[in-house]
Amino acid sequence: MNSIQLEKNISLSNFTTWRIGGPAEWIAQPKNIEEIKYLINWVYKKKIPCNIIGAGSNLLINDKGIKGLTICMRNFKGIQIDQSSEIIEVLSGEMLPTLARKAAASGLHGLEWAVGIPGTIGGAVVMNAGAQEHCISNYLESITTLSLTGEYKIMKVKDLNFGYRYSLLQNEKLIVISARLKLETGHADKIRRVTSENLNHRLKTQPYQEQTCGSVFRNPEPLKAAKLIEELGLKGFRLGGAEISKIHSNFIINSNKASSYDVRELIQYIQKRVFNSYGILLETEVKQCGF
Ligand SMILES: Cc1cc2nc3c(=O)[nH]c(=O)nc-3n(C[C@H](O)[C@H](O)[C@H](O)COP(=O)(O)OP(=O)(O)OC[C@H]3O[C@@H](n4cnc5c(N)ncnc54)[C@H](O)[C@@H]3O)c2cc1C
Repeated sequence: MNSIQLEKNISLSNFTTWRIGGPAEWIAQPKNIEEIKYLINWVYKKKIPCNIIGAGSNLLINDKGIKGLTICMRNFKGIQIDQSSEIIEVLSGEMLPTLARKAAASGLHGLEWAVGIPGTIGGAVVMNAGAQEHCISNYLESITTLSLTGEYKIMKVKDLNFGYRYSLLQNEKLIVISARLKLETGHADKIRRVTSENLNHRLKTQPYQEQTCGSVFRNPEPLKAAKLIEELGLKGFRLGGAEISKIHSNFIINSNKASSYDVRELIQYIQKRVFNSYGILLETEVKQCGF
């Protein structure tokens, strides 16, 4: 008998770092692979849509909610570190900061930049999360995915077409189950020091304690979206409950019960102002669901 809880009509605002989002028709938070398999079978039989989320740190979910089953992976955790081979096997619901800290504690170098990114490994792989010229794909060997029809696949880095905040997984309905990373042995004290310096730097330069989704826009390389927005004097500009951060202009804060529409309108307003002034169309990095 399977003990997984399937809940109905649960607000997704508690499942996103923006604290925005209407109800999931159904939601479940599997803890192991049997529960995940049970859920995809259930969805298949009911013929309803299935949506996968991690920590919801890069998601704007419509206030109207999401139809079908939302599978939240944040309880699907486990890390195995083999110091001698420098290989880490990690389940996709594990948080990136936890992984970065455990790698540092094991004297493995490579993930010092990742400590302040509040997402799961699954979300990091899908988004090719990164910071300070590093990104997760630089340290990946392979991932294991499960399709909604129950087929496992081991995918190597070269199969995933990684780019700037991009992977092939953004266009496919595959569940990231686990990742295999290869790091390098380093000096434990130095790794720990750099890891905590990186986190401190973030705390000073980003509105880290606020309700945000990190950077809203992709950088139109070589330019920085934050700089373009700041130059237009938009720091602190508000629409409804959504506000452009005064600390980092590429962050939108849910400062007063913002609706998904407040955020969407602010995104479109910024796009219009930047386009009118610079002829550049800022593309969103944040993924939008249910619109
Ligand atoms: C304060 C703050 C700072 C941030 N800083 C950075 C930064 O420096 N660099 C950076 O790259 N990002 C940053 N982000 C954005 C975000 O943390 C990353 O994009 C993160 O990788 C998203 O992971 P998640 O688990 O929250 O994914 P979610 O937001 O839940 O989902 C993102 C996408 O991944 C998919 N997905 C998630 N898990 C799975 C899975 N197991 N299988 C299949 N699909 C899945 C979802 O369907 C969705 O399309 C920041 C966010 C915040 C709030």
